[in-house]
Amino acid sequence: MDRRDFLTTATLASGAFALSGCNENNRVAIDYSKHPKKSDDVKSVHINRGRKTTIKLATSWPGHFPIMGVGVERFAKRVFEISSGSLEIKIYPKNTLIPALAVFDATSSGQIDAFHSGPYYWKGKNSAFSLFSGIPFGFTAEEVNSWMLFGDGLKLWREYYAKYNLYPLLGGNTNIQMGGWFRKPIKSLADMQGLKMRIPGLGGEVMAKLGVNPILLPAGEIYTSLERGVIDATEWVGPALDIMMGFYKVAPYYYSGWHEPGSVLELTFNKHSWEKLASEHQAMIEVASSETNSNMTYEFHAQNIKALQKLQDLNVKLLEFPTEVTQAAKIALAKVLDEQSKANQDFQTVLESIQTHLALSKAWSDVSLDYFLNNR
Ligand code: CA
Repeated sequence: MDRRDFLTTATLASGAFALSGCNENNRVAIDYSKHPKKSDDVKSVHINRGRKTTIKLATSWPGHFPIMGVGVERFAKRVFEISSGSLEIKIYPKNTLIPALAVFDATSSGQIDAFHSGPYYWKGKNSAFSLFSGIPFGFTAEEVNSWMLFGDGLKLWREYYAKYNLYPLLGGNTNIQMGGWFRKPIKSLADMQGLKMRIPGLGGEVMAKLGVNPILLPAGEIYTSLERGVIDATEWVGPALDIMMGFYKVAPYYYSGWHEPGSVLELTFNKHSWEKLASEHQAMIEVASSETNSNMTYEFHAQNIKALQKLQDLNVKLLEFPTEVTQAAKIALAKVLDEQSKANQDFQTVLESIQTHLALSKAWSDVSLDYFLNNR
């Protein structure tokens, strides 16, 4: 997904989501050797019944933003409920306390306690951070959660974020995204040449190698740019959020996607703020963030299936990229990943972990889910 856009979207209304949050004491993961017990290095603190604890959490989304913004609000409400009101998480939507793209630094420095956003915004800090959002042709939401919780994903993420005094928990997933809206149909690889497309991240870098001119635009400018032909195409998220942007009115060809198959969202804490919390409060946050991670993922699915029906009723043309485009994109992705691995050892380390888990996961899905989905 394209969180930079949400940062600059001011007017959208509301939505939801949720699950995660193993800590180093991971109560879920089986291999405890990978998760040294917190008690080894951090002294446990217990709830002071006479005092309410308050956490300041800033987000990169407008207040009540569908699915993501509403999901964070539910997270705070759940924490308040299960802590019997002893732990209050105060939500600050983008720009109400901290600018949308400053939440990482504000939490790292301790100005606030936590943020909800997406790790690929912080690739300027370390290009490896974008990998914790996912990669084109990579993990589905289910697969990335299995890598995070039962593989090395969360362990690596926490290791690298610790250098910024941060402690991430899983905070949702956009689920599979669509390839985007095009003013004209793509019939061949040649049709991609010189195409002006709003697409950020690794997907944009892959598109650039196919001859596309990837463009970054604030959310509020995309529709008008598409309408006027300043751009030829745009990706956004999926039917649930795309339909509200009205792209179908000016770019009626809607393509299935490969560039963001399951983008991870984060609930990240200042490490000192986290360690100061009572151990009971930490457990409550872990439970609520786990619920948030799963619920947000499932709400995207539930909202997408309804919105897709509406788009079909509006005669939107649902298409797939030609095989030669998809094949060229895979080759381009390999080049992009190779270049970034050579430039950053952290990127290479995280990528190798992803590719190992992905290869095993693909072998499994080839004989299970692929068969089933193609036959049901
Ligand atoms: Ca997107």
